[in-house]
Amino acid sequence: MRSFVCIHYPANQKVPKSSVARPTTLGGMSEQHPQHFETVAIHAGQEPDEATGAVVPPIYQVSTYKQDGVGGLRGGYEYSRSANPTRTALEENLAALDGGRRGLAFASGLAAEDCLLRTLLVPGDHVVIPNDAYGGTFRLISKVVERWGVEWSVADTSDPKAVRDALRPRTKAIWVETPSNPLLGISDISALAAVAREAGVKLVVDNTFASPYLQQPLGLGADVVVYSTTKYMGGHSDVVGGALVVNDDALGEELAYHQNAMGAVAGPFDAWLVMRGIKTLAVRMDRHSANAARIAELLTSHSKVTRVYYPGLAEHPGHEVASKQMRSFGGMVSFQVAGGEQAAVEVCNRAKLFTLGESLGGVESLIEHPGLMTHASTAGSLLEVPADLVRLSVGIESVDDLVADLTQALG
Ligand SMILES: *Cc1c(COP(=O)(O)O)cnc(C)c1O
Repeated sequence: MRSFVCIHYPANQKVPKSSVARPTTLGGMSEQHPQHFETVAIHAGQEPDEATGAVVPPIYQVSTYKQDGVGGLRGGYEYSRSANPTRTALEENLAALDGGRRGLAFASGLAAEDCLLRTLLVPGDHVVIPNDAYGGTFRLISKVVERWGVEWSVADTSDPKAVRDALRPRTKAIWVETPSNPLLGISDISALAAVAREAGVKLVVDNTFASPYLQQPLGLGADVVVYSTTKYMGGHSDVVGGALVVNDDALGEELAYHQNAMGAVAGPFDAWLVMRGIKTLAVRMDRHSANAARIAELLTSHSKVTRVYYPGLAEHPGHEVASKQMRSFGGMVSFQVAGGEQAAVEVCNRAKLFTLGESLGGVESLIEHPGLMTHASTAGSLLEVPADLVRLSVGIESVDDLVADLTQALG
C-alpha cells in the first residue's frame, strides 16, 4: 500500500493564495515523497482494486466475509460494522488529508461527535463548548450527553483566556468550531492548543466549515478533528456522513473500538460518495471562497444589511487569525437585515437561485434563517442567534447570477 504524506502549511506563516503550494519539508517524511493536497485527495487510500484493476475503490456492498478455516481472514475483513474495504479507503484518505495517523468514518457528523464524546468523557467529567456552536452539537451535549452525568459550560473560544478561565478540575476537552456556525467566529487554534496542552486536556476542532483544504487543525496542535462530511467533503448535497481524524495512535485505537462497539459507521455507498466528493474538494473550495468573498463585498455595501459576518473582511474581528491559519476564507456568509426577524424571513423567501434549505457545503447555493431553522434548538440559551440573521452557503454557480438573485431578494 502506498503511503501518503500531505504537505502542510506551517503554522504562523502566511500560506500562498495559489492552490499550487510550495513543497515544504517537515519532520518524519524523509523516506516518503510529500504530495500536495490536491494529489493526496485524489490518490491516498485509492489504489486501483487488486482483483480487477478498477481505478476507483469499488462499493463493497457486503456485510460478511468468507473465512479460510475458523479465524482465517483473507483480507483482514470479518464483518462490515468493524471494517469494510470501501470505508477503509475513505478512512485512509481522511487521515492523509489532515496529516493524521487515523481517520474514522461515521454515519453522520453527530454520530462522529457522539462516539468522540463517549470515548473522551465519563460521568463527572466536563467539556468546554463554544458560545457559537452548531445547533446539533449543542443539543447532543446539553440534552443527551448531559443526561449521562457529563458537565459542560460555555466559553467565548475566540478568547483563549476565557477558555482557560472556564477550565475545571474535571475538564477533559475543549470543543471549538472555527469558523463557527452561524456567526463565522474565528478561534485561534494554536493559542487554544497551548491552553489545552498546559491543562492536559484534549482540543477538539470541528473543521466542517473550513475543510482540510483550507485549514489543518492537527498541524496547529489540535488533538481531534471533527467533520460533518455531509457538507464540503461530500460537497453535492447527496450524502450524510461524519468523520474523526487524530494523530495519536492510542486515541485512534480507542475511538475505533468505540466506533465498532457503538456501530454508527458509514455504509459502503455513503463512504464511496464522500470519497468521490473529496477528489474535487480543492477546486470547489477555491471557487466557494472566491464567490463568497464577492457576495460579502456586495452585502457590506447594501443599505438593507446592517452587519456582515465573513472572516475574509478586513473588519471581521477574527480576520488576522483567520489569515494566519486558513488558506482562504470559505463559502459561508451570514448577515443581519434591517427590519428584524420578519425582514430576514422575507429575504429567505424571496430568494430563487439560493435554495431555501438547511445544511451547507454543496455546489448549489443555499439560504436559511438560523433562528427558525438550523439553530432553533438554541432558543433561550446562551447560544441563541440574532432573530434578523440570514445564513448563506455560497455555491459554485456563476457569481454574477448569485449577486443578481441576492440583490432582488434584498429588495
Ligand atoms: C452539519 C454539522 C454538524 C453535524 O453533522 P451531521 O452530518 O448533520 O450529523 C456538525 N458540525 C457542523 C459545523 C455542522 O455544520
